[in-house]
Amino acid sequence: STNHECPLDKDDLGRSTWGFLHTMAAYFPDKPTIEQAQNMCDFFQIFAEHYPCEPCAKDFAEDITKNPPKTKSSQALSQWLCERHNTVNIKLGKPEFDCSKVFERWRDGWADGSCD
Ligand code: FAD
Repeated sequence: STNHECPLDKDDLGRSTWGFLHTMAAYFPDKPTIEQAQNMCDFFQIFAEHYPCEPCAKDFAEDITKNPPKTKSSQALSQWLCERHNTVNIKLGKPEFDCSKVFERWRDGWADGSCD
């Protein structure tokens, strides 16, 4: 029997990566230490340098230079990341996501209980 697992294409990689990034932001501390805040800033710089889709990485690095990570709380980081993702959505002609719903989407589940 053949193994049919294949390398990730750009879209599979993107979906998995956004899932990781938004979940990480949702579970970032409400009151991070100075070191946690600095490390999260550093993480995004390094992430942008090594994200394995060259045009994606280049545009993302430019975007976060103009709009640096907001690391004073989980709420601030999650909103900031939602805005960065929306910048990519707009570039790709996808609908914008309502950033008031990030914690429902990535941490708490929807208010109607459909994720319980
Ligand atoms: P995705 O955009 O992958 O989103 C996954 C899920 O996240 C959605 O179903 C939705 O529930 C939720 N979501 C959507 N928007 C938001 C938001 N703003 N905030 C929170 N949650 C949200 N592809 C390219 O073709 N060109 C690029 O330049 C490019 N740059 C990228 C840069 C980065 C840093 C990353 C991580 C990915 C990039 N991609 C790029 C991939 C692209 O963003 C999508 O992941 C891919 O097109 C698959 O899209 P999708 O419609 O499945 O949903």
